[in-house]
Amino acid sequence: MKNFSLSTKIFISLLAGMLCGLILFYYVPAGVLRDDVFINGFFYLFGNGFIRLMQMLVVPLVFSSLVCGTMAIGDMNTLGQVGAKTIGFYMITTAIAISIALFVGSVINPGVGLDMEAIKVSEATAAESTGVVDTFLNIIPTNPISSLATGSMLQIIFFAVLLGIVLVQLGDSTNTVANLFSQFNDIMMKMTLIVMKFAPIGVFCLVAKTFSEIGFDGFLPMLKYMLGVLSGLGIQCFVVYMLMLKLFTGKSPITFLKKFSPVMGFAFSTATSNATIPLSIDTLYKNMGVSKKISSFTVPLGATINMDGTAIMQGVAVIFVAQAFNITLAPVDYITVIFTATMASIGTAGVPGVGLITLSMVFASVGLPVEGIGIIMGIDRILDMTRTAVNITGDAVCTTIIAHQNDAIDNTVYNKI
Ligand code: ASP
Repeated sequence: MKNFSLSTKIFISLLAGMLCGLILFYYVPAGVLRDDVFINGFFYLFGNGFIRLMQMLVVPLVFSSLVCGTMAIGDMNTLGQVGAKTIGFYMITTAIAISIALFVGSVINPGVGLDMEAIKVSEATAAESTGVVDTFLNIIPTNPISSLATGSMLQIIFFAVLLGIVLVQLGDSTNTVANLFSQFNDIMMKMTLIVMKFAPIGVFCLVAKTFSEIGFDGFLPMLKYMLGVLSGLGIQCFVVYMLMLKLFTGKSPITFLKKFSPVMGFAFSTATSNATIPLSIDTLYKNMGVSKKISSFTVPLGATINMDGTAIMQGVAVIFVAQAFNITLAPVDYITVIFTATMASIGTAGVPGVGLITLSMVFASVGLPVEGIGIIMGIDRILDMTRTAVNITGDAVCTTIIAHQNDAIDNTVYNKI
């Protein structure tokens, strides 16, 4: 494995992990060796240990790179423009995503003829919905230290950008603090590199654990639903994003997918957009020439508010549950779903499984029963992994487009094979 690049190693680990998990699931009898030593021993320890290492990097890295990124952009006008464009892009792609999902759902009819007897129903958890005004109000931290401590991403972004702006305005008189952030940022990038060396082991263990206990029996009656979600995700990732990339930047989608795929593989194994932030910024910078002054802003923001993959799952789930419970949705309900799922995408944290919890808000908006979530819960993990990969790809495509429009991408690096 020594001569392979990190990306290749991540892929090999992903495939090997799947294979190993499936072998354990089908061929190794339950017992101490399989369950205690491997699944809940090695795999759990090294898999979760790795996720924790990545999570450890997120807050300090996002904070320092955002302060530096804001300082690098410098003027308020450009900053405002980048901010407005990014948020606009994120909202539009989410609305497209959910529309695709509603369309695919209506074509596939995932809930028609469902055999409820064959389905394992779990207890659904509902989200406490926060009003739209409070959602916006919550962006302003009352105590930035506590925001850092609890990892409240939007509050961290708000404070870091403000800090960067003030540092630019104060100029030379605050050089020491500016340098401190810039050096601290270098330290965090170096730490990311060190942690990433363990990625192949972490990815292998995470995927092996998931596949060794996934319970494929549950898939059968849910096949149409899964197919609906996966086709929606495929269309969004390979058609919508790639068309946008080509249209707005003229850059090759194939190169993009080739270079960004290890990050997708990583997001797939961990099912968390948040933990993927460091790798995403690093890959966009080193392999695709995207300046950190853009990515340090757009990637963490996207990991927090832009969940197109999640929105697709929610769209198909709406059709599925409506059909399963024989509820007819009126055209106006579809519009409501597009709106609430876009809002839910903003409120979904980039960690495993949260998309299912915010789904309760979408269901409530059109009067679908929350119990419906219990039906899809059992098979959600694999979809969670896949939609997370799409979530972070959307952020990266937006980042590349914004970087292109702001002359913040090195084309030689992007095109280098
Ligand atoms: N796991 C997803 C993410 O981190 C969120 C979700 O849909 O549950 O992006």
